[in-house]
Amino acid sequence: MISYDITEWGKPLQQSLREQPVAQGTEVLVRVKYCGICHSDVHIREGYFDLGGGKKFHMSERGMKLPVTMGHEPLGTVVAAGPESAPVPIGQDMLIYPWTGCGQCARCLEGMDNWCPTPRFLGIQRPGGYAQYMLVPDARYLIDCTGIDPTYAPVLACSGLTTYSAARKLLPCAPTDWIVVMGAGGLGLMAVAMLRALGHANIAVCEIDPQKWPAARALGATHVLDPSAADAPAQLAALAGGVWGVLDLVGAQSTASLGLAALRKGGRYVVVGLYGGEIPVSLVPMAQRAISIMGSYVGSPQELREVVALAQSGRLARTPTEVCPANQISAQLDRLQSGQVVGRMVARWD
Ligand SMILES: [Zn+2]
Ligand SMILES: [Zn+2]
Repeated sequence: MISYDITEWGKPLQQSLREQPVAQGTEVLVRVKYCGICHSDVHIREGYFDLGGGKKFHMSERGMKLPVTMGHEPLGTVVAAGPESAPVPIGQDMLIYPWTGCGQCARCLEGMDNWCPTPRFLGIQRPGGYAQYMLVPDARYLIDCTGIDPTYAPVLACSGLTTYSAARKLLPCAPTDWIVVMGAGGLGLMAVAMLRALGHANIAVCEIDPQKWPAARALGATHVLDPSAADAPAQLAALAGGVWGVLDLVGAQSTASLGLAALRKGGRYVVVGLYGGEIPVSLVPMAQRAISIMGSYVGSPQELREVVALAQSGRLARTPTEVCPANQISAQLDRLQSGQVVGRMVARWD
């Protein structure tokens, strides 16, 4: 089978020809049909994330050894299962939950694979969907996405799940409480669509590029502003009733500072974006304002089932996706790196 692999950090992916894997134990073999090309793969290919203050987090510290087959937004046809697998729907197309853990620890056993201390994510520590075939560790990670366009369903496994899990961390709140979304890139637009689908009526989007404003408005943003404008803090302060929650899909020093300052008493700041940086936090006002700072990272298998159900119900507005052949994955990562991609690219295996 063909796969597109990182063979050297910071270099284009290389095409490899390798043996088709065989399902052992509880594993399930899937023939990949579509796989979303995620912006985080740009960072993984580079080999590190920027932690701010000159510190870097290298992929080698994350249990990654080269060569790596990325691709954590796969959808494919179930081909075979190992001898210890639960029954699987051979021949059916399934969305694959990629944030798999060790399968043994307390977090994995309670269904919070994404909180496993020794993650074995598909497309990161385990081979992913930038290959014609891949192994899924257990049948419970196969998610029936009948009724959803297969060129769109893959993005639900990453940006859909990520924004859903982050939005749920804002609860409980009233549907009219103001929620601020930092960034209107792929993740930010999905967050707006997700908040709308979950019934939030007042959504303010902070985005420095005005070309992205119409898409944010079309998906349901009720107020759009430039976070670099001098009056941005005043605009957020003027939102009726104050800001209950901030979903920071950028995760930079500037967005965190603006977002935290904007919170009303009791409010919640949820950081999701991995742009990088750090901020000083004064503890006395944090206590006196009773604010919460939370991180959110992808989501659980159950949450992905809920996202798929939301998409199947028709309530989740579709964010733009485009399809490309699998042999363009590395070139598309280059385009993502230089900011040329509007919406999401999904690779197609023939
Ligand atoms: Zn992703
Ligand atoms: Zn685990």
